[in-house]
Amino acid sequence: MRTSHSSQSLICWVIKMIYEGDFLKDAISNLLARGYKVFAPVKLGDFHLFREVKSAEEADFGYILPRNSAKIAVFPENEVLIKYSSWIDEIPFEETRIAIVGIKACDAKAIKLLDEHFLEGFVDPYYKSRREKLLTVAITCEEPGINCFCQSFGINPRKPEADVVFSRIGGKTFVNAYSDAGKDFLSEFNLRNEGEEEARLRQNFERETLEMRKIEIDVEKLKKSFESSYWKEVAVNCKSCGVCTYLCPTCFCFDIYDEGEKKGVRIRAWDSCQFPLHTLESSSHNPRAEKWQRLRNRFYDKFYYALRKGDYYCVGCGRCIDFCPAGIDIVSVISGVR
Ligand code: SF4
Ligand code: SF4
Repeated sequence: MRTSHSSQSLICWVIKMIYEGDFLKDAISNLLARGYKVFAPVKLGDFHLFREVKSAEEADFGYILPRNSAKIAVFPENEVLIKYSSWIDEIPFEETRIAIVGIKACDAKAIKLLDEHFLEGFVDPYYKSRREKLLTVAITCEEPGINCFCQSFGINPRKPEADVVFSRIGGKTFVNAYSDAGKDFLSEFNLRNEGEEEARLRQNFERETLEMRKIEIDVEKLKKSFESSYWKEVAVNCKSCGVCTYLCPTCFCFDIYDEGEKKGVRIRAWDSCQFPLHTLESSSHNPRAEKWQRLRNRFYDKFYYALRKGDYYCVGCGRCIDFCPAGIDIVSVISGVR
């Protein structure tokens, strides 16, 4: 099994502290007071969504994973790239500092993968303008969801790659900083150093492997299965709805269109490789006109083509399994290839 090469690689040093109080809510209040745009999970009925919040009271942290991913903070569903009339009037880059509070280890790793896509080689200036102002405050997982498989990619759900990591262990609040930005942020709070017993408690918590699903990927078999009828069988019930890609923290396809003829805005909006028109060329040729070809593409994108960049483009969050209306399960599909 190939695992991620970059787990915890950006960590230069760590401080480990204890906080007496509601750290996550206090963190949001602090960030808002300092002018940050804050994204946090909001409870809507029986599920949570990452959203921009205007007060700490809006946030709720009683979830395993919010339904959407935290990527909206750096790669929003819709954004204005240019405002124009007879010429370009404005290019609205992000000016405000941004924070995500409540991100889990899978989504935090996904942002590192988006960095590879948007910042290596051609640099996307819009993504960059948000990413360089981003602070991440992560929560460790106590238990996995039924379709989580992040550990298959070397992700430790008890040790997210974030600026600040929050854990609730044995009734105590542990907050660790893993970057200079995290250390600066924690200096805003009244903290005490963890004691020896507390350090042991935290270390045991971080070392524990969680019982969760596992994906077994055989890249060579995948490579050889490109023309297999297997993909037609898998795609039979696919609705081409794009839910799997919209909820995926590592998917980055987008479309660009203009609204307004002489005066208007140029918009970038998420797109999906599962939509029939996604690959329609101006010649009217469509290389992935069939549903099974589009579905196959999603699996090859995640587990084969992405290896050109050195990593799988899946972090095992399980959202595409949880919410696919056709019950298409990425772990089972990849096992089927084997
Ligand atoms: S695999 Fe599932 S979620 Fe994805 S497009 Fe098909 S039906 Fe929709
Ligand atoms: S492919 Fe599915 S399991 Fe993997 S990161 Fe995307 S939504 Fe999560």
